[in-house]
Amino acid sequence: MTGKAPVGVVSVDGTWIRGKADADPPAPAGAPPLRRNKVDHRKPIDELTGFEISPDFELFDQRNDVFNRANWDDTVRSDKALEFWAAYVMPNARARKADGYSQRDYALRNAAWHFTKAFATLKAGEEGRNEGFNDTFTMHGPGWPEKWPLGDPAETAREIKQVAKLFGADLVGICEYDDRWVYAQKYNRMEQASKPVDVDDSMTHVIVTITAMDHELTDTVPSALAATATGMGYTEDAVTLMSLAQYIRNLGYSAHASMNDTGLNIPLAVQAGLGEYGRHGLLITEEFGPRIRIGKIFTDMPLEPDTPRYFGVKEFCDICNACAAGCPVKAIPFGEPSMEAPNQSSFSTIRKWTVDGEKCFKFWTSQNTECSICIRVCPYNRSYKTRFDRFWRWLAGTPMRRLALRLDIWLRDASRKKATSWWRR
Ligand code: SF4
Ligand code: SF4
Repeated sequence: MTGKAPVGVVSVDGTWIRGKADADPPAPAGAPPLRRNKVDHRKPIDELTGFEISPDFELFDQRNDVFNRANWDDTVRSDKALEFWAAYVMPNARARKADGYSQRDYALRNAAWHFTKAFATLKAGEEGRNEGFNDTFTMHGPGWPEKWPLGDPAETAREIKQVAKLFGADLVGICEYDDRWVYAQKYNRMEQASKPVDVDDSMTHVIVTITAMDHELTDTVPSALAATATGMGYTEDAVTLMSLAQYIRNLGYSAHASMNDTGLNIPLAVQAGLGEYGRHGLLITEEFGPRIRIGKIFTDMPLEPDTPRYFGVKEFCDICNACAAGCPVKAIPFGEPSMEAPNQSSFSTIRKWTVDGEKCFKFWTSQNTECSICIRVCPYNRSYKTRFDRFWRWLAGTPMRRLALRLDIWLRDASRKKATSWWRR
């Protein structure tokens, strides 16, 4: 990679989108082999998570992520997609008169994304890195050469969670390292080529962090204003993860801070006891429902893992189709979970509800901002600060879940709120 300035526009997560590559260029001489499908498809933890995984299991290739496909695949790449990404840098935002899409709304959204984008692209020009989205964070100090003697892994886990919360995490869970959820290979958008993941299988644990997104901003989705909640979620995540990883390094252990890069967040979060898969393909937590962002740290620190938690999400989703009905492009399936994926941008070979990423992303580009309607309409999208919300969650996890569904329809206002009213709060 040369330091030559790339030509194009900056993507939502800060990387440059430029001319399409027809195929993966060959790996440079001496590069380590790409990691492809060398893992066992079943693990004992599946008994606790309920994951049903096909013997045809395949690692996910980050090249197929719909955001990466917009670089190399003409079925996803479009002028609208390029404009969508360009809009994260003023003055490319195509502000308009519609509620939630004014210059002020884009100004706030883009400011919320600014730190994350700036941080992600610090090493974009020279090294082609897109940290937090395609690559792990590397802006760390040197740490300590020897390992601090740690005692009981349960006590160490308790301390790590205390430190993670000090650095801003709303929830923290720990699971054992699981190579099934690490990408087969990652994607370099600058060079439009695949490359090996940064993390190797010497890691023993994953610390998974949850950051809650702002409730009132999310109520205005779809709007440019609402995407401020996403930008802030990433920005807060970056601070938490970088700080926690540095603490672990300062104790002499390995730590790789990661957001969307390197591996799949949701199965790790489920294994770390932070929630369950919903029909909309998102993690549903007991504390914030699906209104969250997920970060993770791969480490070799000895830690006691958490146990997967159930509170009845699967059974509730079986009778609730609010997200599938509310999705404007019908990207969320009705019916039963399946091992099939609608296209290569979704992870198949594990039984779950799977969103059509192509349809979803196309809607985002048509709106010129992100969409989270499926989060807004989800009955689990509550603050849980009131007794009623906590009672509702309990009820939704019992055989009386149909009553919980009726109560949600009668009593919770899941309609879109005006962005202008958010500004006047
Ligand atoms: S984000 Fe919007 S378009 Fe995508 S699945 Fe959810 S509701 Fe549908
Ligand atoms: S909206 Fe309903 S079906 Fe969709 S994830 Fe939430 S609870 Fe499940």
